[in-house]
Amino acid sequence: MYLYNSATHKKEEFQTHTPGRVEMYTCGPTVYHFAHIGNLRSYIMEDVLEKFLRYEGYDVNRVMNITDVGHLTSDADEGEDKMLKGAKRENKSVMDIAKFYTDAFFADCEKLNIKVPEVVQPATGLIDEFITTVQGLLDKGFAYFAGGNVYFDTSKLDSYHVFHNHEEDALDVGVREGVEEDSNKRNKNDFVLWFTKSKFEDQALKWDSPWGVGYPGWHIECSCISMKFNGEYLDLHCGGIDNAFPHHTNEIAQSEAYLGHPWCKQWFHVAHLNTNSGKMSKSKGEFLTVSLLEEKGYDPIVYRFFCLQSHYRKGLVFSWENLDNATVAFQKLISRIAALKPDNGEVDGAVLAEYEDKFKSLVGNDLNTSMGVTALYDVLKAKTTDATKLAILASYDKVLSLSLLDKAAKVREEQAKAQTAKAAGGYTVTGEGDPAIDALVLARGEAKKAKNFAEADRIRDELKAMGVEVTDVPGGASWKKV
Ligand SMILES: [Zn+2]
Repeated sequence: MYLYNSATHKKEEFQTHTPGRVEMYTCGPTVYHFAHIGNLRSYIMEDVLEKFLRYEGYDVNRVMNITDVGHLTSDADEGEDKMLKGAKRENKSVMDIAKFYTDAFFADCEKLNIKVPEVVQPATGLIDEFITTVQGLLDKGFAYFAGGNVYFDTSKLDSYHVFHNHEEDALDVGVREGVEEDSNKRNKNDFVLWFTKSKFEDQALKWDSPWGVGYPGWHIECSCISMKFNGEYLDLHCGGIDNAFPHHTNEIAQSEAYLGHPWCKQWFHVAHLNTNSGKMSKSKGEFLTVSLLEEKGYDPIVYRFFCLQSHYRKGLVFSWENLDNATVAFQKLISRIAALKPDNGEVDGAVLAEYEDKFKSLVGNDLNTSMGVTALYDVLKAKTTDATKLAILASYDKVLSLSLLDKAAKVREEQAKAQTAKAAGGYTVTGEGDPAIDALVLARGEAKKAKNFAEADRIRDELKAMGVEVTDVPGGASWKKV
């Protein structure tokens, strides 16, 4: 495949250190609050990338960290460690907060059909490794101890800026990181590897170290976790574009200084999800979560579909209207798939292979997921058996993960049920998808038709006791839970 590499600013042929195997790393969530759907856009696109690489035949080892030790970036305006802030807000311990929001993150991932990486490592579980690496950087002369903290010395590197073409002087780290200029630093791009002194004096989690009781800097956790589980050579590092600087720049600095050789081949950055008022963030405007989408009646998979319709390197504008449009398009697509008959003809292996190759070349052009979605409609129009079309759609869905065939099967099932009800006397029951309640509502309808009103009322009371409200509609009844 061809993939844009943000380190070289070029689209390049994807290559791996070990042929056939991809060592892939993803910056995981900071677990002090729910992920907003802007964060989840990155995880959706990274999931499609991983699945596409598998589709191409690669064996993928994907590693993700969980940031459960507070990190400093962008905390200046809050003046408090994020984890501790979350704990205070909810009157829980820091570790309870981390566990709760880690579980919530993976629950969201499941709803969005995002696969769990092979390795998920909370930062608090690898403190000894962080200390070893920091000590290694000190031993090699790439770090220094000042004012109680260990700093990485960026002046010891041949080059520091990878992702941005800024002149070094133009980089105002203090402002960019949202942290006041630290007078212990020898160079303004230097960053902390280990804190024993920070403005967050009441940091909840601290560990003993050769430099005093403290906690690791944020950047070091990703380098260490990747080096431990991906090995010394990383093929693909992923994250949201806001992590490119300083986080990823600093990851490269410390990993290459520690290893003594180039570290990561390709960098994959996903652009922001924007609202009409700008970049989505946790502190601004409506806090958009997967749960909120569900509360408003949206299928989370429609959000995935919405994300796939645009390119990962372009900013995407979220609005309820855009999500409504995606819902209509997705429902139409599903009903067209539902109209295909699984027992219509045999699967034509040659056609299947031809369409799979086409999909690989379309999506393999810098993960062009919108072309991948368009390809679904081409399949529906193809001149081949329904069985073949369904096989191709199932194949594409290994990458897109839109549950296309499951959803279509459900639509077919409901249509069959409605047909049966019609055949049973033209009385149709619509409800919230509970066959037991459907049967009761149908029995009530039959009792009414037979003028057995006592029985009809008895069933209505029974349903009422179950919290089900029945409304008579032309040709049947509908019910809902109240
Ligand atoms: Zn990271």
